[in-house]
Amino acid sequence: MTLGTRLTLWQVSLLVLLLALFAVVSYRTLDSGLRAELDRALRERADHAALAVQTVPNLSIAGISPGLSGEFASPGIYVQVLDEAGRIVARSPNLGADTLPIHNERVAEVLAGRSFYDNEAIGGQDARLYHRPITRDNRVVGAIEVGASLVNVQTTLDRLQAIFAVSILAALLMAMLGSVILTRLGLRPLTRLADHAARVGQARDLAARISYSGPADEAGRLTVTFNEMLSRLEAAFKAQQNFLAEAAHELRTPLATLLGNADLLARYGDDPDRRSTALAAIRVEGRRTTRLLSDLLLSVQADTGWRLELRPTLVTEILRSVAENSQLHANGTTVTLVDPLPFIILGDADRLKQVFFNLVDNALKHTPTGGAIRLQTSLADQWAVVTVSDTGEGIPADALPHIFDRFFRVPGKSRGSGLGLAIARWIVEQHGGHIDVKSEMGVGSTFSVWLPVERSTP
Ligand code: ADP
Repeated sequence: MTLGTRLTLWQVSLLVLLLALFAVVSYRTLDSGLRAELDRALRERADHAALAVQTVPNLSIAGISPGLSGEFASPGIYVQVLDEAGRIVARSPNLGADTLPIHNERVAEVLAGRSFYDNEAIGGQDARLYHRPITRDNRVVGAIEVGASLVNVQTTLDRLQAIFAVSILAALLMAMLGSVILTRLGLRPLTRLADHAARVGQARDLAARISYSGPADEAGRLTVTFNEMLSRLEAAFKAQQNFLAEAAHELRTPLATLLGNADLLARYGDDPDRRSTALAAIRVEGRRTTRLLSDLLLSVQADTGWRLELRPTLVTEILRSVAENSQLHANGTTVTLVDPLPFIILGDADRLKQVFFNLVDNALKHTPTGGAIRLQTSLADQWAVVTVSDTGEGIPADALPHIFDRFFRVPGKSRGSGLGLAIARWIVEQHGGHIDVKSEMGVGSTFSVWLPVERSTP
């Protein structure tokens, strides 16, 4: 069942419920109102008649009754008078040969001075009766009965029922028709959205967008959200394609070197010099490829939302180890750790070591022999700041905004993959921190890593 049909059914069911409730309440109210009105009319009629008798002194009930019963009767209202013995002494002419029904025990009751209503039948029709005593000098001298057929009440109620039935049916039909049309119109943007989504799915065309010119309602918001989602999917899809192309390209160079050296080995393996040169090249390229693959793997993991496990870590230890190890292959450049502050942060020690190694390694690659690389720490608010500065060639100003992008390399300057700084930024951001760079051509570069401090030990 479609959403449109479901909505129509809900609306129509609700309307049926409301109309039925309205009809029942109206019917009941009118029914009890009409009956109360009739009861009131019967009592009034009986009271007036009784009053007329009571105010005529010394005249027998039998004497005045015929005139009385005629005078107070009217079309549909019947009057009957009983004497103190319970005998019928007069009936209104409109009763014809009939009498108003009254049973012995009811006669006794009314002659005992009680007034009451009864439901009986007059001439085969349901009727309402009112009985009341006639008193004179506080003595019951007779009784009066006024009756009316309920046929008028019933006719009015039946007519109301018929009007309700017809108008409810007509209202339902119109509501159903209106609801179908309005629901269709209202759901049209959604239908278009669903059709479009299906087309995108079939054609795999992520560049297509849905146009929407209606108001900024739910359908409008859904269209905007859907288009934004398509844009993000398109960007992610393109990024994935670029990544694959770049990764394949990056792997091609070391693999070609490895294959070339393997060929050399096969051909000149007997020559000890050539063999050791080829083996050394294979080892270097093998290590480079391994590093490249682990960087690629980390990049993919970063994209899939993988998170680092952080635990309290003493940054000083990491910096000391990075400085000492880097100094070993610094080739004439000095790597110094300057008075490190004892920060403890929530971190992943291995990944942080990778960040600082990478920064120092880059600095070494771009600093001429004899230069100086300094690792320094400082505290800025609640940030532990680690700076890695060099006295190297610097980074061109137009390259600075892209330096942390994946696969970005300063043209002509590097043999790397362009993944190092992108990974460094991801790791630092995983720690809730950020990384930035300042650089001046010919003077040097300074990378700053900002990490939230857990505590600073004395
Ligand atoms: P790669 O592995 O190619 O070095 P990175 O992401 O680590 O990739 O660095 C991106 C680019 O930034 C490199 O091409 C390099 O030219 C430049 N770069 C990084 N660090 C420095 C530095 N300290 N001095 C000068 N250039 C740098």
